[in-house]
Amino acid sequence: MSETTFEPVPAVEPAAPPAAAGTLVMKFGGTSVADPEKIRRVASRLVESKQAGNRVVAVVSAMGQHTDELVSLAYEVSPQPKPRELDMLISVGERISCALVAMAIADLGLDAISLTGSQAGIVTDTVHGKAKIVEVRAHRIHEALDSDRIVLVAGFQGVSTAFDITTLGRGGSDTTAVALAAALGADACEIYTDVDGVFTADPRLVPGARKLHAVSYEEMLEMAASGAKVLALRSVEFARNHGVKLHVRSTFTGEEGTWVTEEDERMLEKAMISGVTHTLEEAVYRVSGSERADLFAALAEAAVSVDTIIQTGDDIVFSAPVEDRPSTEAALARLDADWEERDDLGKVSVIGAGMKSHPGIAARTFQTLRDLGVEPDLVATSPIKIAFYIPQGDVERTVVALHEAFELSSVEAERAHD
Ligand code: ASP
Ligand code: MG
Repeated sequence: MSETTFEPVPAVEPAAPPAAAGTLVMKFGGTSVADPEKIRRVASRLVESKQAGNRVVAVVSAMGQHTDELVSLAYEVSPQPKPRELDMLISVGERISCALVAMAIADLGLDAISLTGSQAGIVTDTVHGKAKIVEVRAHRIHEALDSDRIVLVAGFQGVSTAFDITTLGRGGSDTTAVALAAALGADACEIYTDVDGVFTADPRLVPGARKLHAVSYEEMLEMAASGAKVLALRSVEFARNHGVKLHVRSTFTGEEGTWVTEEDERMLEKAMISGVTHTLEEAVYRVSGSERADLFAALAEAAVSVDTIIQTGDDIVFSAPVEDRPSTEAALARLDADWEERDDLGKVSVIGAGMKSHPGIAARTFQTLRDLGVEPDLVATSPIKIAFYIPQGDVERTVVALHEAFELSSVEAERAHD
């Protein structure tokens, strides 16, 4: 008698070679789908990518300023729209654009399907207006890709664990794209936008600003947190945590843009500084007579993401996003403390991974400020950033002068990359 004590290996055909097709997530911002002509152009771009052999998932933003218009409309009707209903309203912008792109793809002879965030399996927590993605149940997307379709997903939204429609915060379509790229194991997540990539400074302020070929996740996080509008901060965090390679590039040219990836040697050596970013609007609060722990507990409860915190004597000075101003003020009002708010400051940040290994960045930064006669109010640093708050009126010339001082217009500032 013979007994098989192990599962025999079934004889099977050798596995089919892995499909050459990789999955590509392509995200198009509002300016890229602003009118019917542009929608057709995005459709052709998706069709090309599909015909090149990719499994294509596209995430689109609302057309042009549509989300702003919907938000204004809500406030025209109601002074304090209920967050649940506001999400219900503003999530439609993305549904419109992705349905239109799917129609345009059909006209080009390919099969496409548009899905809401909820249909695409994007599950979030229940915080309306800035929900976090907790899970992506991608089986419906997989099925559609398997049946050879291009899949359009409405960006910036999901369905909460309480079955309500949520939105992910302004700029949230980037986060949708990166989350899908992570969940689908995509080769890369391409972010198509109206600029050519990530620049050493805002080219509208600094005509000599250069497009960077590559930046590290950390650098991009600092840049996104300090004024670079090209990527939503949350999407960069997500990309770093899941190792999703991002490629920020122009919708309107075939040019390569900027890669956002793991840090490598070249990033540390070639350039000390990658860029100078700025914001013109900052909300800075000074609080006295409150326990630190109580203050930050109150802010956390109001879902305010505090940025810089500085203790000076008994006072606590902190900054928070301008969008969070109403909730910050409400939280401070509930505390029995004295507080005041400043809204006359902007912020300039000098950012670069090379800062970790090259001394003298702070020296050159503050020398430049002294030469300009600009006096920073608050200074905050990280291992790869020096940021300071200065009067709004000084921001532009400070950015220009720092860009010059760190020679960011020179060819060497560009880091070649694979
Ligand atoms: N349409 C949304 C917004 O304007 C989301 C996005 O564009 O990423 O914020
Ligand atoms: Mg955006």
